[in-house]
Amino acid sequence: MERVKCLIIGSGPAGYTAAIYASRANLSPVLYEGIQPGGQLTTTTEIENFPGFPDGITGTELMEKMRSQAERFGAEIRIGMVSSVDFGVTPKQVTIDNETTIEADTVIIATGASAKYLGLPDEQKYAGMGVSACATCDGFFYRKKTVAVVGGGDTACEEAIYLAGLAKKVYLVVRKPFLRASKIMQERVAETENIEVLYEHQTLGLFGENGVEGVRLVKRRGETDEEEVNLAIDGFFLAIGHHPNSDVFKNFVETDELGYIKTEAGTPKTNIEGVFAAGDVADPHYRQAITAAASGCRAAIEAERYLKSSK
Ligand code: NDP
Repeated sequence: MERVKCLIIGSGPAGYTAAIYASRANLSPVLYEGIQPGGQLTTTTEIENFPGFPDGITGTELMEKMRSQAERFGAEIRIGMVSSVDFGVTPKQVTIDNETTIEADTVIIATGASAKYLGLPDEQKYAGMGVSACATCDGFFYRKKTVAVVGGGDTACEEAIYLAGLAKKVYLVVRKPFLRASKIMQERVAETENIEVLYEHQTLGLFGENGVEGVRLVKRRGETDEEEVNLAIDGFFLAIGHHPNSDVFKNFVETDELGYIKTEAGTPKTNIEGVFAAGDVADPHYRQAITAAASGCRAAIEAERYLKSSK
């Protein structure tokens, strides 16, 4: 069985930064990329708040730079999904794609988070036929068409603005009477002429013969003036947040009620010695590229310390 000193799972800013630090510390890290190499940032547009890029940088480019920086120092980056783990043994065992089991002295979990769906049967019915959780991936199909984006946070605003550049009209469907997004994003939404914000609207379902042709909404649900609103749309985009990708670790690693991996305050240490968590999978609060990168750095430093102390 292959044995590695440091196994990193995940290829977002946390995973790649951990790989940069671990390789420079001679831990010869092996990193598994998962199904979305580069992670969530590869599905965003311009990143304007990552220090060092005053003119902005695309998510894909930033992740490519981080990846090649990790490779430059010898990190081995592989394709594969973790299918199961056994953290009850020493060294830890991690199985990839139900096929290969690797022994690891330390493990850094940096599996990030995935987009949430509303849980409506129509989301599955129209999957790939007008329903998407990634505007930059699928926006191109809606040029000069009409789309709805659900959510009131920064992601929803960002997606709505991006889609407004392609589509004829964008409805932003917000369940509260206000946006949760940052001021700057709210202002940009307000300045974009072809975005119409529908406050206090919730989604009941979708309709259409061959793909999405419309959305059924309810305005002011539960109030005396509750009203059903049907809108003709061609695309339905979810932007209601994310859930942490921690399921495969849950038999061993403690998580909170939402599934975020619990870490010792101020450190990336999980309840299992030698297993560390970094980035969005362990961060319900900040969820930024820069905070994920920082936690990846800490995880690699802690992995190195753990290896030294356990020798
Ligand atoms: P958020 O958790 O901030 O927002 C989720 C939004 O979806 C909220 O408006 C929420 O409504 C709404 N929502 C959740 N569940 C439902 C539901 N079932 N039906 C309808 N609406 C629902 O997630 P984001 O992904 O927007 O942002 C995550 C983090 O990433 C934040 O910290 C954000 O600041 C950051 N971010 C920053 C960017 C930037 O430009 N710097 C870009 C993108 C993200 P409600 O408000 O009612 O709870």
